Amino acid sequence: MAAESSAYIALGANLGDVKRNLRRAIETLDATPGCRVTGVSPWYRSRAIGPGNQPGYLNGVMALATTLDPHALLDLLQALEAAAGRERMVRWGARTLDLDLLLFDELSLADERLTLPHPRLAERNFVVYPLSDLAPALHLPDGTPVSDLRIALGARGLEATFATLEQSDD
Ligand code: AMP
Repeated sequence: MAAESSAYIALGANLGDVKRNLRRAIETLDATPGCRVTGVSPWYRSRAIGPGNQPGYLNGVMALATTLDPHALLDLLQALEAAAGRERMVRWGARTLDLDLLLFDELSLADERLTLPHPRLAERNFVVYPLSDLAPALHLPDGTPVSDLRIALGARGLEATFATLEQSDD
């Protein structure tokens, strides 16, 4: 059997049936051969980045044990985003599911498709907070503790929720 790697994936959604989209992404990954979801963080609400008066995001992080290589995992995440997108184009005309590969074992790499760790991980409190909730002792490949990033970023624009994906928003 191939050795399992440990990956962390950020999830975010702000349009459509947010909780259903997030729940589906987690369930689909867990049901994919070679992938096992080993943990899901608490959820946070964050202000949308970017133009316009977009609704806030629901953000979280999941931990995955996987025998896939990082590029195959990225393919899978992009397929899930596209699947959510196809529904959304009909109903909403905007983006509903964002999946970012944050960390893959201790790997550091940058090619035309994939940068690890994720290039904006350390700038985004809506990623760092749930990541450090899920894995408080985690370090980046360069040795930086995620707990240090959390202190440095602070909780501005971020709101802890007691949301579970089983509850409906509306
Ligand atoms: P975004 O629209 O912000 O989700 O960015 C998607 C693009 O970022 C895609 O073209 C990916 O190939 C690229 N990318 C580079 N590194 C990563 C990563 N660690 N996780 C997800 N996408 C990545």
